[in-house]
Amino acid sequence: MAVTDQILTKTLLKSDILRHLTFTLGKDAPHASVYDWRMALSYAIRDRIMEPWFASTRRTWGEDRKRVYYLSMEFLIGRLLEDATINLGLHEMAETTMAELGQDFREIIGNEPDAALGNGGLGRLAACFMESMATLGCPAYGYGIRYEHGLFRQRFEQGQQVETPEDWLNQRNPWEFDRPEATYTIGFKGEVVTRDGKEIWTPGETVFAMGHDTPVIGWKGRWANTLRLWGAKPTTMFDLDRFNRGDYAAAAEPETLARTLSRVLYPDDTTYQGKELRLKQEFFLTSAALQDILRRFTSSHGDLRKLPAHVAIQMNDTHPAIAGPELIRLLVDEHGLRFEEALEIAQACLGYTNHTLLPEALERWATFTFGNVLPRHMQIVEQIDSWHRRTYPGRPHYVGIVKHHEVRMGELAFIMSHKVNGVSALHSDLVKKNLFPELDKLHPGRIINETNGVTPRRWLKMANRPLSGLITETIGEGWEADLDRLKELEPHVPDQGFLSAFDAAKRQNKVALANWLKADLGVSVSPDALFDVQIKRIHEYKRQLLNILETVARWQAIRANPTANWVPRVKIFGGKSAPGYVVAKEIIHLINDVGATINADPVVGDRLKVVYPANYNVSMAERLVPAADLSEQISTAGKEASGTGNMKFMINGAPTIGTLDGANVEILQEVGRENFFLFGLTAEEVVTRREDPDHAKKAIEASQVLQDVLQNIAEGVFSPTQKDRYHGLVHRVWHHDYFLVASDFDAFLAAQAETDAAYADRNRWLTMAAMNTARSGFFSSDRTIRGYMTDIWSVESALQG
Ligand SMILES: *Cc1c(COP(=O)(O)O)cnc(C)c1O
Repeated sequence: MAVTDQILTKTLLKSDILRHLTFTLGKDAPHASVYDWRMALSYAIRDRIMEPWFASTRRTWGEDRKRVYYLSMEFLIGRLLEDATINLGLHEMAETTMAELGQDFREIIGNEPDAALGNGGLGRLAACFMESMATLGCPAYGYGIRYEHGLFRQRFEQGQQVETPEDWLNQRNPWEFDRPEATYTIGFKGEVVTRDGKEIWTPGETVFAMGHDTPVIGWKGRWANTLRLWGAKPTTMFDLDRFNRGDYAAAAEPETLARTLSRVLYPDDTTYQGKELRLKQEFFLTSAALQDILRRFTSSHGDLRKLPAHVAIQMNDTHPAIAGPELIRLLVDEHGLRFEEALEIAQACLGYTNHTLLPEALERWATFTFGNVLPRHMQIVEQIDSWHRRTYPGRPHYVGIVKHHEVRMGELAFIMSHKVNGVSALHSDLVKKNLFPELDKLHPGRIINETNGVTPRRWLKMANRPLSGLITETIGEGWEADLDRLKELEPHVPDQGFLSAFDAAKRQNKVALANWLKADLGVSVSPDALFDVQIKRIHEYKRQLLNILETVARWQAIRANPTANWVPRVKIFGGKSAPGYVVAKEIIHLINDVGATINADPVVGDRLKVVYPANYNVSMAERLVPAADLSEQISTAGKEASGTGNMKFMINGAPTIGTLDGANVEILQEVGRENFFLFGLTAEEVVTRREDPDHAKKAIEASQVLQDVLQNIAEGVFSPTQKDRYHGLVHRVWHHDYFLVASDFDAFLAAQAETDAAYADRNRWLTMAAMNTARSGFFSSDRTIRGYMTDIWSVESALQG
């Protein structure tokens, strides 16, 4: 930008902020709060998204482009203000303008609540995909639910997780636009009657779904797409009869009933509960999205058989798998197509992304519930199933969509899609071999792989200003949208000047984190220590337990020999447990108990600290990832589908200590064995190891260290007020240990000893760290989205070059 343009742009920005403060917020500058300034800045930035947004929509219509529709029950977005300023190239300008107005930009950014409309990786992936589709000029809509309460807030009381409701919509959301004209009726229950050979469904309950649009702006503002979130509204506001009879509370019942639909996000990560409300939410999202898609299509096209040439619909996990039957229903019941014709159209439009192999995560609805909530869809599901059985006579009798009085959503999604993808090379392989072996044989080539990625704009450019500045200084601009260019850093890695600049950037992030930890938790940590970070949902398969057992072992070793030359270490944990997941909550309690004991031990001092800031979310990840030295990715092999946290750390120059699981396999391949702390059983070894009923006992008896650790915990060393607190937990490790914590313990200990040695050798460590960044280009979600565009969606970018 020319200097005069820049001055002009800045003058305009400042006057727009002040104009919004006055006329939108109704505030006089001397009395404006941080909230007021944040809103004023958000509106001023939002104004600048409108032109690219409208231009993108106009071009998509004008050029009659194929559109992608990404259906997801979760979008874990985080904050939008800073992201928008970064993608519009207005970050520095916004910062200096706010400073001139006497405001602290960081404080304003921090005032925005996280949009936490998701649980973890699956929802965050959807958010990264939206940003990458906008950056790549892929015409797309995201469809989700506008939950009034996103994922609960986590607090610790005496070390235990306490959940409180999250209320991000209590404040005005400056990024969304209500779309009352995009309102659809969604039906549930009721009955189906046959009339003149046609099935007529009369729902027993109805609600409206109304769209709320948030623009999603891509890198450099060259393209913008729409995230359309559905909010539920009652079809009858009010029961007037009851009101007139004086029953005022009951008069409002229809409204209450409808609103529960988009009230709250289910907080279960990788388990499903089979609750009727959840099934209703899934149908609510899916039906609203499909009605919207068909309305948009029919407004400019006549022949619904052409739908697949114009529409690609991606199902993020099985949560929107009702899309198959619902699209058939709309095409047959409302548009008069034949069943098989409708089925083929639906298949050609639909794609299904599988996210997990965990059996407890695979959605299955009792046919009773399914048939009650969606009677017409139950018929269609049976029809699809018998069509598939007829068409593929080789199908084994035990394979099918409806089995043992349950509707299996994985099989439904598979059969109704033209492509099914896993999310890492290993995972896609296991989807073929273990999850859908029979369907894979009947439909060779349908299962493909699209390894996950993360957006480098948020996770490097925005979250890590010191490192992104160094990268631009070293290899010039443009890497943000072409992450493979990071490999141009490699020739600089042997250069001492570069390495110390890399070191300085990391240190700056570590100092900032240390200051925040002091303020948030009152714990002092030294920025010279190795920051060892495990942040993710708390789950047995992710093995936070393995990490805390190793922490106890380290503590015992330090106490036994305090004068040895210890590499100081800070163990950082973050993550929430599903509210009903008792074992995960016990692990949280143990981490906090161990932390309290270790942090108060004068013998240990700075050699070891344990910190666990509460309420891990996207904004906390943005703080922790850039400051991490070591990335903990230690799941039981075969259980983590991909992981995306692992990629964020790699990009930000933190080597991984990890198992051969999910995308760790590809991280290892990209970064090289010498830059990765590999340990543990492989997915195949895990299966064989489990066949020995005494696997845990044998592993523990072979490890004196593990015996001592378990004994300390069992004796109540970390729970002096309740010595038997962890008896159950220790007993499970000895006698059950499904996730093989004991079997991998010694190998983990040895790998951690390697990290100490590597960290003590400054040059070696910095080289490893820098190599991780330099070789992380593959893990941009731009690469992932390009894969989906060619392999699944057959859609082209609207931006040339
Ligand atoms: C990236 C991210 C995740 C996923 O982390 P994994 O380590 O891949 O499980 C979960 N939650 C938040 C807030 C994230 O940013």
